[in-house]
Amino acid sequence: MTKIAMKTPLVEMDGDEMTRIIWKMIKEELLLPFIDLKTEYYDLGLNHRDRTDDAVTLEAAEAIKRLGVGVKCATITPNAQRMEEYTLKRMYPSPNATIRAALDGTVFRAPILVDGIAPIVPNWEKPITIARHAYGDVYKAVELQINKPGTVKLVYESEDGIGEAVVHRFDAPGVVQGMHNTVKSIDSFARSCFTYALETKQDLWFASKDTISKIYDGKFKEEFNTIFENEYQQAFADAGISYTYTLIDDAVARVMRSKGGFIWACKNYDGDVMSDMLATAFGSLAMMTSVLVSPDGLYEFEAAHGTVTRHYYRHLKGETTSTNPMATIFAWTGALRQRGTMDGLEDLVQFADRLEQASLQTIAQGKMTGDLTALSSLADKQTLSTKAFIQAVRANYETLAQ
Ligand code: NAP
Ligand code: MG
Repeated sequence: MTKIAMKTPLVEMDGDEMTRIIWKMIKEELLLPFIDLKTEYYDLGLNHRDRTDDAVTLEAAEAIKRLGVGVKCATITPNAQRMEEYTLKRMYPSPNATIRAALDGTVFRAPILVDGIAPIVPNWEKPITIARHAYGDVYKAVELQINKPGTVKLVYESEDGIGEAVVHRFDAPGVVQGMHNTVKSIDSFARSCFTYALETKQDLWFASKDTISKIYDGKFKEEFNTIFENEYQQAFADAGISYTYTLIDDAVARVMRSKGGFIWACKNYDGDVMSDMLATAFGSLAMMTSVLVSPDGLYEFEAAHGTVTRHYYRHLKGETTSTNPMATIFAWTGALRQRGTMDGLEDLVQFADRLEQASLQTIAQGKMTGDLTALSSLADKQTLSTKAFIQAVRANYETLAQ
């Protein structure tokens, strides 16, 4: 059998713990036998990040800027306990945050829907993709305790002078918060959303509370509208998709009644809350995919879950684990499909589609990992180890490819 050829390499970012084990299994069982896989390999495993003083993370981000598409394994974000466990030189920042900052991108999360696992909301027939703005607002806020009567003001000093607004005249104790965002960041967020909507041919919704927050949320609404009208309106019309702005409370009501199949762009806090709600309502964190999209159309695919530490410690003790590899498989298929589309490689795109189909088929046949047997309504279901599940996917792929 001849292997499927690639033109441009993918940026491959290896990671940590259980997902690093799964990464290797996926490559050996599902990719290397069928594709003449071309990747530029960066080891973002914590030991190698430490050896390179985290330079490898920035090099990987630069490689995505050069090559356009990356695929990343889950990685440990070190805390005090990890500092000790891995005897680290310093507490490195989250690789995801470093890469997101370097690419100025937005993260889109979408659930993988399978037969036998019904969303809690019965009318959700298609995935709902959440895009969360990842800069500013309450996450970069400054706060004060107010203990005595006094006046809190916003003061804006610039070369043109000083502007002021009274926040509140306190006659008793209270609390106060100041937050900000930048037009540059809002614009990047908007462009990433419009780009991804076009790429995936899905409608885009954006919601905020501009009736109450007329200047702050009003600015978000205005930037989205202006960029849409000036840069994307025609392309959306040609693609047969739409952009809708609505109030956040109206959006929540509409999302609940919808059939799914669209992208919901959220401000930072809304996205934090709503993405956890959607992940739970669609089934499982192990079935959530994640893609970072930059405003100029660079892509980085990964699973939304972490390195599954608890399973890894069991694996180290010699136990066989039933860790779900679906989101990591879909990170690879997402990246290969994107690469194939950009390079005009029809058979690479077809490979990605078929491997996804084979994975979904495997679960529909009742063969799944333990996290899913707990959720699935199928009568005939069995819990497989990660390895056995991946081998079952391979068998289904080989049948589809005949
Ligand atoms: P996690 O790795 O997502 O795992 C949390 C729990 O969710 C697991 O213990 C497991 O539950 C379940 N789970 C998650 N993925 C699963 C899968 N594929 N198959 C089966 N069950 C799955 O989160 P965490 O334990 O909070 O974080 C572990 C490490 O991952 C941390 O060092 C963190 O820094 C890192 N992390 C990385 C990323 C990233 O790179 N994108 C994201 C989040 C966290 P049971 O144990 O009950 O089976
Ligand atoms: Mg959260």
